[in-house]
Amino acid sequence: MAYEKERHLMVEYQLRDRGIKDERVLAAMENVPRHRFVGEHLQDNAYDDCALPLGEGQTISQPYMVAVMTELLKLKGSEKVLEIGTGSGYQSAVLSLLASEVFTVERIPSLADRARKLLKELDYRNVHVIVSDGSLGLPEHAPFDGIIVTAAAPEIPQHYIEQLNMNGRLVIPVGGRYSQILYQIKKTPAGIEKSISTACVFVPLIGKAGWQDTEIY
Ligand code: SAM
Repeated sequence: MAYEKERHLMVEYQLRDRGIKDERVLAAMENVPRHRFVGEHLQDNAYDDCALPLGEGQTISQPYMVAVMTELLKLKGSEKVLEIGTGSGYQSAVLSLLASEVFTVERIPSLADRARKLLKELDYRNVHVIVSDGSLGLPEHAPFDGIIVTAAAPEIPQHYIEQLNMNGRLVIPVGGRYSQILYQIKKTPAGIEKSISTACVFVPLIGKAGWQDTEIY
């Protein structure tokens, strides 16, 4: 009960008051029990206005950033969506309530296993968790109506554009190791429409079309 109240306050003060308008996104984030996606010792901080550690040097993103990125996908409910960077599985659970099918890719097997089990336990049935290098997208399940990348890329991997449906959207943080810009890209018959959303800080997308391990550490 206490978590439900905290979640409601999170939605009202961190999301709605800061300009998140899509009622479906707000309702999904009011619904998903974020505290279940962090370690037990962090459950009381799950609704704080910040990212939290997940282990393996990775993080669950700040609620506001999850909302901004999700809103930019402009989902109506019938879409097939690809998420790169499963992490805790929290963003996948939010997407699961907003789209028809969600594929989520994680490079660290232990995080993918934990997320897969939790998503199953919480009955998010339309989410498929896959271990692979998501910097290459997921060609075997393409095309997608939306692709959301929750790790930072040095540049926009061309694979993502190729794996988008016409009028599909890509949301991705792009930039340097310690700060990036969030881009929204729409694939149209006339070409790519690119717009900038906000500054952000994400952990790196490590892989063939992302950062190399050796460039990071
Ligand atoms: N969306 C997650 C959530 O809701 O908890 C947070 C993701 S965390 C900020 C970024 C994740 O991207 C990490 O779990 C990291 O291991 C993963 N990652 C980094 N490079 C990747 C790659 N090439 N393919 C798949 N996952 C990758």
